[in-house]
This record gives sequence, C-alpha cells and structure tokens, in this order.
Amino acid sequence: MPLEATPYLLSIDHLLSEDERLTWEATREFCQRRIAPNIEHHYEKATFPRELIPEFGEMGLLGSTLAGYGCMGMNPVAYGLTMIELERQDSGIRSFCSVQSALVMWPIHTYGSEAQKERWLPGMAKGELIGCFGLTEPNAGSDPGSMRTHAKQDGPGGDFVISGQKFWITNSPLADVCLVWAKTLEHGSDTPVIRGFLVPRESKGLSTPETKGKLSMRASVTGEIVLDEVRVPADAMLPKISGLKGPLSCLTQARYGIGWGVLGAAMDVYERARRYTLERVQFDRPIASFQLTQQKLVELHNEIGKGLLLAYHFGRLKQEGKLTPVQVSILKRDNVSMALQAARTARSMLGGNGIMGEFHIMRHLCNLETVFTYEGTHEIHTLAIGRAITGLGAFG
Ligand SMILES: Cc1cc2nc3c(=O)[nH]c(=O)nc-3n(C[C@H](O)[C@H](O)[C@H](O)COP(=O)(O)OP(=O)(O)OC[C@H]3O[C@@H](n4cnc5c(N)ncnc54)[C@H](O)[C@@H]3O)c2cc1C
Repeated sequence: MPLEATPYLLSIDHLLSEDERLTWEATREFCQRRIAPNIEHHYEKATFPRELIPEFGEMGLLGSTLAGYGCMGMNPVAYGLTMIELERQDSGIRSFCSVQSALVMWPIHTYGSEAQKERWLPGMAKGELIGCFGLTEPNAGSDPGSMRTHAKQDGPGGDFVISGQKFWITNSPLADVCLVWAKTLEHGSDTPVIRGFLVPRESKGLSTPETKGKLSMRASVTGEIVLDEVRVPADAMLPKISGLKGPLSCLTQARYGIGWGVLGAAMDVYERARRYTLERVQFDRPIASFQLTQQKLVELHNEIGKGLLLAYHFGRLKQEGKLTPVQVSILKRDNVSMALQAARTARSMLGGNGIMGEFHIMRHLCNLETVFTYEGTHEIHTLAIGRAITGLGAFG
C-alpha cells in the first residue's frame, strides 16, 4: 500500500457537495503550501506568521460563514472543513481565524449596529484589521459572570468609561479592535448587566501586554487587555445584546469550529504515526507489523472517523438552524478529548523521535492541552451535558 495515501474507512467524501469538496481541497492546498513550511520555526520562536493574515482573507477564511461585508457566506460544513485544514497545521493558526471570525466578526454581524458593521467587518474579512475577544479575567475564568471589568456612563453624550483587566486573550497584542465584555448599570436599575464594547486600539488608557513563556500555542499571540478608564462613545456598545448570553453565544460559534478543527490535528498525528511505523524497523520488522502498534493505529483511525461523522451530522443540523448549545458542548468536549488522546498515543508510537519538533506530534500535543482548557474546559462542558441529561446543575 502506498505510504502517501492514508486510508480512512469512515470517510465523509460522498456526503459532501461539489462546492464543499472544492473548498476543502483548496484550503488544504493553501495551508500545505503557505503554513506547513514555516510552522515549526514559528512555534519554536513563539511567533505568529502575521504576513499570512491578508492571505487568510483572500482565501475567504475570515468571517467565512457571514453574509455580506466582503464575507464568503460559507455553509457550516464547508467552514468546518476549513477549520480541519488550519488545525492540521497548528491549533494556534486555527485559533487566530476562530477568534477573528466567530468571536469578533460574528457578534458584530449579529449584535452590531449598521455603522459598526460597516466600520469593522470589510477590513476584518480582508485581514486588514484584527480583532480580539476579551471575556476571561485573572479571577473570572470558568465563571465569567463573576467578571469585575465595568463600564460607567459619563457625560452628556453618554460615553462609557471602562476599567478592568482581561487575561489570556488570543490576538490582543495584534488587535486593532478589542471586543470587551464589561458590567454596566443601566438606567434605573441597581443590577449590573454584561454588555459588549468595541474598543479601538488607539483608545487612551488601553494596553495589551503580551503573555510570554507559554509552552503550548506558541505560534499564537496571547496577551492581556488592560483598561485604565478607557473612554469610548456610546455607540461603541453592541446594541442588540445584553447579559451573559452575549459572550456565551459567541463561544458557541467558536466551539463549533473547534469541534471540527481538532480533527485536523488528530489526522495529522495519525498520518504521521502510520507513516513512521511502516518505515521504522525493530526486531527485523516494521513496527506497524506488531499487533500492539496496529491496535493503536486502529484506535486512532476509528476515533477520528467517528469524530468526523459527529461533526458532519452537527454541521448539517446547524445548516438547518437546529443545532443546540449543548450539542456543541458534546462536539467540543468529545472531539478535543479524542484529539488529545490521539496525540499522546501517536507520540508514543514514534518513541524518542516523538518528542522532537521536526516530527510535529509533540507540538500538536502541547497545543491540544490549551484547546482542552479554553472555550469552556472539558469539565465545564461535562457539567453542561450532565445538566442537560439529568436536569440538575452541578456547577457550584
Ligand atoms: C492560550 C489561551 C488562549 C485563550 N484565549 C482566550 C480569548 O481569546 N478570550 C478569552 O476571553 N479567554 C481566552 N482564554 C481563557 C480560557 O477560556 C480560560 O483559560 C478557561 O475558560 C478556563 O479558565 P481558567 O484558566 O481561569 O481556569 P479555572 O476556571 O480557574 O479552572 C481551573 C480548573 O478548575 C476546573 N473547574 C472550574 N470550575 C469548576 C466546576 N464548577 N466544577 C468542576 N471543575 C471546575 C476547570 O475545569 C479547570 O480544570 C484562553 C486561554 C488560553 C490558555
């Protein structure tokens, strides 16, 4: 059997439209040509390949599911296939596109005013403007409702003055605009409500220091958003959403893409482990001929296939407008967990070489540790699914 053609016995090819197949192939070719050659270098140096951002725009990978404003209007399955190819290269590259598309462009498109959409979306679709999503704080991670960042209305024009600190924010050091979630008191009420604010880079009192020293997601830029009495006009607030459901609905969009994307990382580690074990000889035989090695390959292959079928099924439900947030929790939780386990198994199959950068598996493994934690930890999604099937919340 030729080494290049890794068999997948649980393929979805026959379920895809011609357009979906072409999108998948074009994205794979682009990622292979433009990302693969330098990704290990970027990971080692902890840098992000900024020069590729306009090319992501040209490929329609930014805000791809949105309609108008220069976006592609892709269906959810085609979008999922692009996520696979981005994450086949590196979870950090997929994270860049996920944040820009699902966490910043999607809320502007869904909850923004016409002026906000026109100001930000066309430039973001082209990759000329970069966005970040500020929800997590030093003391508010899994429980974002406990955030302390606040916005106070001030002056005759109704400006907001925002103070607080956001932590672990993908793309913040690069961002032209930060979507900051903050609590504010609305007229006549003593109960603060969460609102989203579009804070431009040039705002006085805004800084975005980079977080150094990550041993995971090194090819992704992460930082803080520090807001020291940042004044923004009243029309910087997203007008069509209030409450925790604002940021949570954005996360549902992003988690859907993650549930597809991690399949790409899992495919890459499986394909590398298969090639390696067919070539590596010990005890006078390729190590792929040992039963224990075949068992590992079969596990990887079958779990990836099942994950792909789940993503496809939920993709078609999303296309019909029927996908629920708890189904997205199942997709994110189970596919990330599967991919992380696949990377650990594949790493072991390469023996000592498995820890080396040039064999790429350790990089995926380290990245997937972050994916397991961000966008709702594995445990929090378990609790969300547990609540849905028992009717009993076990969060706190
Ligand atoms: C590289 C990276 C990029 C990120 N990018 C962004 C971004 O762009 N924007 C953004 O807003 N955030 C971002 N995050 C933050 C991420 O979403 C949080 O790290 C995540 O929500 C977990 O919060 P925490 O780290 O504070 O952990 P904690 O909430 O302190 O959790 C620690 C542990 O306790 C467990 N735990 C917490 N509560 C419960 C409970 N009730 N029951 C059982 N177990 C529980 C958790 O599952 C976890 O295992 C990013 C994080 C990383 C690492």
